[in-house]
Amino acid sequence: MSSGPNEKSEMATSSRSRVPAGHEVLERICEEILRRERFLLTSHARPDGDSIGSQLAMAYALDALGKQVRLVNADAAPDHYREFPGLDRIEITAQSEVPADALIVMECSDLTRTGVAGLDHHYIINIDHHAGNRMYGALNWFDESAAACGEMVFDLIRALGVPLSREIATHIYLAILTDTGSFHHSNITPRTFDICRQTVEAGVNPAAMARSVFDSNSFGKLKLIGALLNSMELTDRGRLAVLAIDDDMLTSCGCTHNDTEGVINLPLTAREIQAVVFFKAVASGEVRVSMRSKYDVDVRLVASEHGGGGHKNAAGFTVPGPLAEVRPRIIARLVAAIAAGARTDDGD
Ligand code: 5GP
Ligand code: MN
Repeated sequence: MSSGPNEKSEMATSSRSRVPAGHEVLERICEEILRRERFLLTSHARPDGDSIGSQLAMAYALDALGKQVRLVNADAAPDHYREFPGLDRIEITAQSEVPADALIVMECSDLTRTGVAGLDHHYIINIDHHAGNRMYGALNWFDESAAACGEMVFDLIRALGVPLSREIATHIYLAILTDTGSFHHSNITPRTFDICRQTVEAGVNPAAMARSVFDSNSFGKLKLIGALLNSMELTDRGRLAVLAIDDDMLTSCGCTHNDTEGVINLPLTAREIQAVVFFKAVASGEVRVSMRSKYDVDVRLVASEHGGGGHKNAAGFTVPGPLAEVRPRIIARLVAAIAAGARTDDGD
């Protein structure tokens, strides 16, 4: 493999020696990155820790290679990510006209997941771990076994020969910490911990990370959690928890929709509860549905039946309202998913 005419960096002129044997797509991605100069990075609308972490780890790695980098997202990150390095580099737009030699899309099973228009004409490198990826790129690297897209970005950064700076390590750890539901989901492997080990060696402080991601609630959000859990309904003999939010609840707690992030995980702390569904009526008249589950209860299947996606234990979709019509249908579907996948013991 040769590096292209624009290659400035002395850090990596070839990645062949660092790419695991037989990993052709990773090798091709390295080649194309090394020979190109201007990069545009994006990820999905309503970003989460994996999309932000993957994007910014990639951005810092491209900086280290001397590349030009711009980042665009459809929506701003939730407040508790704002203090992480580089968040102010992300431009928020519904329509991009940024010129680039390559667009790297992370965490998106299809291009519409970005929520950003005007990206189709780019040379696209698609890096994702969501089942059902549509392979919309010129290069497509899809690995469903990755616990977070950040694991794949870590491998790419290593293959490019970029050292693990504190910023890169922080974003990789953020991606993994959040996308595993703080090491709760069932897609965690030895590779997950090996990558985390390397990020900690590079200066990440796991306690500080957990505090800033999970312990940074406002008082308003605590009130909102109380109100939501108070109104939570249990069904299917206590195996399914149903949460729903309306604008009155948000207003009375002084919160916005952003403050609901993470609340969906709380009901799963009850031993009996196998799955949680969270309904949000949004301004467009549509209903946003988020789901979480334990073990083999497959909520991705339910999401994909409704045009959404995600993972076995965490998935979502948006459907036309009204909520009163949507709700019983989705609940019945989840009861069936629990019947198919629930464990009767707690599995330890
Ligand atoms: P959340 O419930 O936190 O919004 O999403 C949980 C998981 O499902 C994430 O991996 C997210 O990317 C995925 N997901 C949520 N909503 C959608 C959707 O509308 N379409 C697709 N393809 N994936 C979604
Ligand atoms: Mn992810």
